[in-house]
Amino acid sequence: MTTTETIETTGAEGAAGASAARDVLVVKNLCVYYATPEGEVKAVEDVSFSLWQGERFALVGESGCGKSTLAMGLMRLTRAPGRIVSGQVFLNGRDLLALEDRELRALRLSEIALIPQGAMNSLNPVMRVAAQIIDGLADHQADGNGKNSDEAHRQRVDQLLTTVGLPPSVKSMYPHELSGGMKQRVAMAIATSLSPTVIVADEPTSALDVVVQRQIMQTLGRLQAGLEAAVLLVGHDMGLVAQFADTIGVMYAGRLVEVAPVQNIFKDPQHPYTRMLIQSLPTLDEKRDFVGIPGMPPTLLNLPPECPFHPRCPHAMDICRSEFPAQRELGPRRQVSCHLYSEDAS
Ligand code: SF4
Repeated sequence: MTTTETIETTGAEGAAGASAARDVLVVKNLCVYYATPEGEVKAVEDVSFSLWQGERFALVGESGCGKSTLAMGLMRLTRAPGRIVSGQVFLNGRDLLALEDRELRALRLSEIALIPQGAMNSLNPVMRVAAQIIDGLADHQADGNGKNSDEAHRQRVDQLLTTVGLPPSVKSMYPHELSGGMKQRVAMAIATSLSPTVIVADEPTSALDVVVQRQIMQTLGRLQAGLEAAVLLVGHDMGLVAQFADTIGVMYAGRLVEVAPVQNIFKDPQHPYTRMLIQSLPTLDEKRDFVGIPGMPPTLLNLPPECPFHPRCPHAMDICRSEFPAQRELGPRRQVSCHLYSEDAS
């Protein structure tokens, strides 16, 4: 889908609509920087948000805005020259950034799991599919039920492959024998093998054709609903995101500038960047010239403490050139960081 007209209500709207929903992941003031010879790149700056149980939360924004860095950072998977500078990430009440490595390893896969971008790079090319799935199961002693563990693992592999839409015979194959979509399904089987409460899906459909993209998103939706897991989806295709997500977080230059239910983002965006992003989407009703957002995103190197969107913003004011706006609550599940909505402006 490339238009805003075919937005469907997702299967998990109950999660986003339930005010009593439990937070399973709470990110507070997370900062992730990269050290470069030219200075510090502030890829994620002071980002806070939460995921409810069963919620589908999508992060969108232009390339290089920090979406994937945020996803990796909150799982503590940031690699040098990146580093988590500050912040807290509570997963079911425990701060992932404060855990011992051993405790963190125990939580990965069992409570929080990653579906990576580019499954081929995440799968071991010299291990058969079954062995790769069993690796995680065995590591977490997932059988634990007194049965023959090998047999229990084999049964679980067949069940997981079937659940992600693959025939059990795939278990004997190597990654190079699978298509891109099949590899992504294997990655999903691994990620859901221990029924995590949070699934982080980092652009799971990149490099796949549009038909397979849709199938993969449908499978992810089914898995999410079956596990009642929360999903953090990093995406760039607004159409796919609109069909999947309950809530959208819009990132710009390493900052989370707006969070709102999916319908509000498309029908009533508040932040000037979000508005321009939505206006740039093609529609089916009207043939018109493509509308872009003038200017370029700023470099994240030594970013000054102002609103990074001000050179491109038609509403920029003096204060925008000196101070970054605080995050303001506009209603349930609605936050925006823009001086147009600051206390003084209201
Ligand atoms: Fe535009 Fe100012 Fe809002 Fe930034 S803070 S988006 S420059 S109005």
